Amino acid sequence: MRPSLIPMPREIEYTGGKSILRADAPVTVTYAPELPEEAYELKIEDGKVTVSASSEAGEFYARRTLEQIIRTCGEECDDLVIRDAPVLSYRGFLVDSCRHFYGAEELKRLIDTAARFKLNKFHWHLTDDQGWRIEIKRYPLLTEVGSVRAGSRFGGVDEGGPYGGFFTQEQIKEIVAYCAARQIEVVPEIEMPGHFTAALSAYPFLGCTGKQIEPMQREGVFPNVLCVGNEDAVAFVKNVLDEVCGLLPGKYIHIGGDEAPRTRWCRCEKCAARMRRQGIRNYDALQGSFIKEISAFLKERGKTAITWNESLKGGVLSPDDVLVQRWMDRKKLCPAFTRAGGKLIEADFYHYYFDYPYGMTPLKKAFDYDPYSKSGADGVFGVEGALWTEFVRTFDDLCEKLFPRLLAVAERGWSGFPTRDYYDFRAAAIVLLPLLKENGIPTLSPFRWDPRSRRREIADFFKGSLSPGSIREMMESRK
Ligand SMILES: [Zn+2]
Repeated sequence: MRPSLIPMPREIEYTGGKSILRADAPVTVTYAPELPEEAYELKIEDGKVTVSASSEAGEFYARRTLEQIIRTCGEECDDLVIRDAPVLSYRGFLVDSCRHFYGAEELKRLIDTAARFKLNKFHWHLTDDQGWRIEIKRYPLLTEVGSVRAGSRFGGVDEGGPYGGFFTQEQIKEIVAYCAARQIEVVPEIEMPGHFTAALSAYPFLGCTGKQIEPMQREGVFPNVLCVGNEDAVAFVKNVLDEVCGLLPGKYIHIGGDEAPRTRWCRCEKCAARMRRQGIRNYDALQGSFIKEISAFLKERGKTAITWNESLKGGVLSPDDVLVQRWMDRKKLCPAFTRAGGKLIEADFYHYYFDYPYGMTPLKKAFDYDPYSKSGADGVFGVEGALWTEFVRTFDDLCEKLFPRLLAVAERGWSGFPTRDYYDFRAAAIVLLPLLKENGIPTLSPFRWDPRSRRREIADFFKGSLSPGSIREMMESRK
């Protein structure tokens, strides 16, 4: 029997024989220094399994492929040789732990499942307007005050309250170790200068007005942002990042940079002074200069900053400063950035934002999307599927929204585009569903992956919770 595999390997050669393989079949691993870091060769012949790889990562991925082979072929499998390597070295998934969040045990189930499909970056969204979820020892109020909101009213639905909690540094280390054992790097996101209300609730001096405010209870984009003209406030976020650098060993730190209204900056003496000092003429450039300063700070600590595409608006950032994550780029700044040598992580709103129902983003739509088309293959450094949690109120719902759509991202990141017919991919996803179930990941029935009446599903999703105007606003502005 021939296996169903996701992602599709680069090369499979069937060699004619058949092997009887048990789940605990012994594997002989040989060291092959000539192979690239994540590449591997897997051979099944006469009931024997041989793996060649130059690193633990390559061996890990060979074992993930073997796991799928045994799962889909049962004990009788066609002999084969697979020679495989990924197209991209950044294959990510984002989980928002700010709006609604789940504990370490649930996260581990998601992480383990993602690893089985060779994803290797866990983008962990840890701070936002509605809650600060990472313990920072130097500034304890960030979690004591900023992790708790009085209630939750996302989409106008009153969930009661208060709602709060955070990950201690010990818990974060535990997640980092769990990821590392699965070849996954944690990419923490500490949002600035926008989506910063929770921090301001704990330390009001960080804002332009200095007024006491509370963590937000609903979705949206909010006016109270970091005062980038206040040197003490900028020093504060650098101290936070310094602690984050020490806690998380990975190379990348995401610093947000999206959806930062200029309402407060326009009326702030300190922000005006920074603009005069640096000869900055507009607020987009003010944000650009701030992101540039923070990314230089991270570079000194051996880290690379990632920012959402809005930060390109000021025309200040160069490809040497940051990696850019593209979610929605109406001004075509991303193609210009890649033409100048910049690198993108593709997380297209219409295809890779999985917090919306299948009626909006059917599995086929996610799979058929070519993430390399928007800015040229050379400019694409990574792909990522995102799961924001404003409207995700249970862990089951989170799982059902993320899987199997995330597998489409896994295939694009590992295997490139195009790879195969959608229906072949879909059939493989169905055959591999037990791997998800085993990890405690519920999924919708395959009949619902590509719903016929998409309009109705979209209407049901928004029904009663949002006015037509706010749906439009959300579609326009929300990431
Ligand atoms: Zn200011």
